[in-house]
Amino acid sequence: MIVMKFGGTSVEDAVAIRRAADIVKARLADRPVVVVSAMAKVTDQLLAAGRAAANGDRDQALAISAGLRDRHLRTAAELLGPSQHSVGAPSKPSSGLGGGVPSPLQKLQSEFDVLFNRLDELLRGVVAVAELSPRTTDFVSGFGEVLNSIQVTAAFQAAGLDAGHIDSREVIVTDATHTRAVPDFEETEKRLQTRLKALLDQKRVPVMGGFIGATSEGVATTIGRGGSDFSAAIVGAALDAQRIEIWTDVDGMMTTDPNLCPGARRIKVISFNEAAELAYFGAKVLHPATIMPAVRKNIPVYILNSRNPSCEGTCITSQAPRSKNLFKAIAAKKRITIIDLVATRMLMAHGFLRDIFEVFDRHRIPVDVVSTSEVSVSVTVDTTDAIEAIAADLAKLADVQHEGHKAIVCIVGENIRMTPGVAGKVFGAIGDHNVRMISQGASEINITFVIEEDEVPAVVRRLHDTFFTEVDPEVFA
Ligand code: ADP
Ligand code: ASP
Ligand code: MG
Repeated sequence: MIVMKFGGTSVEDAVAIRRAADIVKARLADRPVVVVSAMAKVTDQLLAAGRAAANGDRDQALAISAGLRDRHLRTAAELLGPSQHSVGAPSKPSSGLGGGVPSPLQKLQSEFDVLFNRLDELLRGVVAVAELSPRTTDFVSGFGEVLNSIQVTAAFQAAGLDAGHIDSREVIVTDATHTRAVPDFEETEKRLQTRLKALLDQKRVPVMGGFIGATSEGVATTIGRGGSDFSAAIVGAALDAQRIEIWTDVDGMMTTDPNLCPGARRIKVISFNEAAELAYFGAKVLHPATIMPAVRKNIPVYILNSRNPSCEGTCITSQAPRSKNLFKAIAAKKRITIIDLVATRMLMAHGFLRDIFEVFDRHRIPVDVVSTSEVSVSVTVDTTDAIEAIAADLAKLADVQHEGHKAIVCIVGENIRMTPGVAGKVFGAIGDHNVRMISQGASEINITFVIEEDEVPAVVRRLHDTFFTEVDPEVFA
């Protein structure tokens, strides 16, 4: 079997959902399991509704919800309206009144009504208590996948696919770290195997929402923004998939974000290690957690374009051929804060670093780049509301200063390992841009440095012009 994951833009409207159905149809022989995101921008809007409610703006919260209800009902009507019939369904849509069987559209509309009424009730509750807890945030933000997985199932059925819906909250079991919950792989695998195999054995196409799960008590959770890719990998690993396909809006993993650099080239093949570094340091095309389950089972991951399905995309695999280029790609991650710590004692006493890292651990904030000197340590973290609280805790150990609006740039390639003088080439290429921190990771396949956020476009373009103007046709397209 294979897993096919469709991201937000690949299911953003009726046209995109029909295109996804055609792509799935072409792969029926591979026994696909389909994982879908919310329609594009829906998760952002749900979160905005939650925030408005928490700020007491009831009208705004309910207006956002009404807009989403309208978009989903319109899309459903386009997909299942009078001119669309499922295979084997009655040729006239039934009225649904007087005991008649409701049409697929009527069924979907009433499911949407129940769900949106529940969302509105919840938003009113948030207004009443003037607080949006992480638990409630997850319930609200996961709505997009709940809605769209039901919608895509119905649309696939209308397109002649024998699709069956699986509620991800019944199979993806996580801990209660709301907004970035961690899956319980053992329990999740058991449930996925039972539920998916039952459908696959009947030659049906299971369709489930990405991003969402639930605790073992059944409380809704989400596994982190952009997490549908991770969901797809969890499903693929559980069923020993032949491959995991991530269908998105670009031709594959590119030498850099094509929005930053229109000349970005498609990478045909890349190693798990390289892709993991790129994903971690900002290549949004793949959620960083996706690689781990795929590596565990050695399952290749393909990045493919739903608007250009004949393009062969990018294959992420354990055996990537060596490239004649020094690097594979450049990633940049914005919204970074540098925290500088100067030890208040004379020299860095034994245990100082441990004490510092304990503070980050307690706040559950990962540190990305670290550099040290005799008396000082600088670290980077994603900019968060918790910075002031972290700084206050660190101030008990050291003199603390923090500065936001920074970015991490990461240049990746297996060839870095065996090439002398790579750092010199990189810093030579970026000229007089000010570099705040530098690190060459232990994996020896990346060079990472920190710059001002507003210098990202200029720095990335300079690096790209220097290292990717000519590319090895074996590895790049
Ligand atoms: P989806 O909604 O399908 O999950 P995302 O928006 O999460 O899609 O990811 C796709 C986007 O990732 C692209 O539109 C592109 O702007 C961005 N991106 C960033 N870095 C890269 C890269 N190296 N290669 C391809 N796309 C990238
Ligand atoms: N819809 C979720 C998000 O926007 C998950 C995803 O798209 O992967 O973060
Ligand atoms: Mg994504």
